[in-house]
Amino acid sequence: MADPIWFSFLFGRVVMRNALGLLLATFVTAAVIAGGWYWTAKPRADAAPHQTAAAKPADPLPVSAKPAANDDVEVTASIASRLSALPPAVTSPQKPACANPDALGVARVVEVDTSGGPGFGFEHFKQLDFLEPKEVLLTFDDGPWPGNTSAVLKALDDECTKALFFPIGKHATYHPEILRQVLAAGHTVGAHTWSHANLNGKKMTDQLAKDEVEKGFSAVKWALGTDPSPFFRFPQLEHNPQTMAYLGTRDIAMFSCDLDSFDFRKDSTPDKIVNNVMTKLDKLGKGIILMHDFQKHTAEAMPTLLRRLKAGGYKVVQMKAKTTLATLPEYDEALAKELKLPTTASRPVSSVVQTVSR
Ligand SMILES: [Zn+2]
Repeated sequence: MADPIWFSFLFGRVVMRNALGLLLATFVTAAVIAGGWYWTAKPRADAAPHQTAAAKPADPLPVSAKPAANDDVEVTASIASRLSALPPAVTSPQKPACANPDALGVARVVEVDTSGGPGFGFEHFKQLDFLEPKEVLLTFDDGPWPGNTSAVLKALDDECTKALFFPIGKHATYHPEILRQVLAAGHTVGAHTWSHANLNGKKMTDQLAKDEVEKGFSAVKWALGTDPSPFFRFPQLEHNPQTMAYLGTRDIAMFSCDLDSFDFRKDSTPDKIVNNVMTKLDKLGKGIILMHDFQKHTAEAMPTLLRRLKAGGYKVVQMKAKTTLATLPEYDEALAKELKLPTTASRPVSSVVQTVSR
């Protein structure tokens, strides 16, 4: 603005000797001031569309240049998808754009060589200390289950973070579509036996334990339509030495935990789950967290827990396996037969025999 005024002052002194000169000076001054305003205001006019776009809450793709929490991969993915005129491909769920700039995110992805069946989780396995200070691994057992698993998935998705799931084989056959959502969301899926039997129980035999393990993995494979990760968790963390040796021969990694949320207890509430986890974590400084997507209170606790983890400076590590597990064909076949031909004993009479006329 200073330049046009200065120019009109000089110009006015030269031509302001008569009325015509005054009129001319007025026109020229107005033109120069208008030009000056245009050049001064132009950058602001250019900035306006950016502000409008950034403020749009419904925009699925973040336009902010601020990186998503600790996740360079997701930032790259969001930039790449913005360059494309097409919406993000649903067939590549591993790199979705993160719409939450303050998300918990994934700090680190680790790949596990499961050769020989390594064990993780300090409650039972002390050798492999792979987590750095403030790092956590989120694990969920006993799903998939209607409502609860989906709520857990939504909470994880809202925070653009990833977890490790140990589904029960039977539950996978009840709700295969939910387990597929878990995999499609980019989480890691292992197995947690066929029927959640205690593999260290008095009546357990080596053969029955093997059946529980293998049928569980075959059920997860059937549900997913693809091979699961060679990751296994013993029900109730009851480690049977013979079964551990067997898992070693199958190159399946075993998971205990570092801290238990106790979300399965009858008196559990969302608040208690959050407090249990945060109290133990603040004491240990890091850890594999055991939770259950099967439990309603866990699903309800998840949004708050993930926010508390973020606020506490904790970082999520995602664990993947170097290779998938090749399930045993005899168990795949036996399961397929069982699923196609349900035994009448498992169905109530009313679903087998119905009165259609009298
Ligand atoms: Zn369990």
